[in-house]
Amino acid sequence: MPWNSANTAAHTGAAKPQFRPGAPLAWHDPRPWTYFDGEQAPAAPALRAICSCGWVGPTVHVIDRTRTVEQNEKALRDEWSRHASEAALEPANGVLTELIAMLNRLTVDDPRAALTMAGVLERASRDLQAAAAESARAAGDSWIVVGAALGVSKQAAHERFGKPGGKARMRPGPTPEA
Ligand SMILES: [Zn+2]
Repeated sequence: MPWNSANTAAHTGAAKPQFRPGAPLAWHDPRPWTYFDGEQAPAAPALRAICSCGWVGPTVHVIDRTRTVEQNEKALRDEWSRHASEAALEPANGVLTELIAMLNRLTVDDPRAALTMAGVLERASRDLQAAAAESARAAGDSWIVVGAALGVSKQAAHERFGKPGGKARMRPGPTPEA
């Protein structure tokens, strides 16, 4: 059965049978891979993850028929999940790259305006980090996961976002270190 992700309607994933290395995967074949069991149809030796956007996962998973469908699909589904998350970030990445390039030009053309904009960005970034960390924690992510997503250690993430009424929730204003 297909995999869906909440924030990426354009990306629907599935595990598809791979009959020979390098053989094309039949996205449009509606039959589940479990149909290819050697009785109803030729047995499929392996599976790969595929997405409706055309993406094909790198991992070839050798089917272990002593295990459940979920167990056989787990690694492929995780792989597809990462793909869907990255795809969801693409539009924001494009806009950010453009904005940063624009602000870089501003540092030469109008340095004071660039400083003002950098300050606005810094405050927006702090608020975003705090809100996202709170959502991630509410969804059950550990401090290790929150820190890794932000590119800092578990301790740093906890220090920054873990304290009630801590720095993270501070509203825009003059910063003490200014
Ligand atoms: Zn996709």
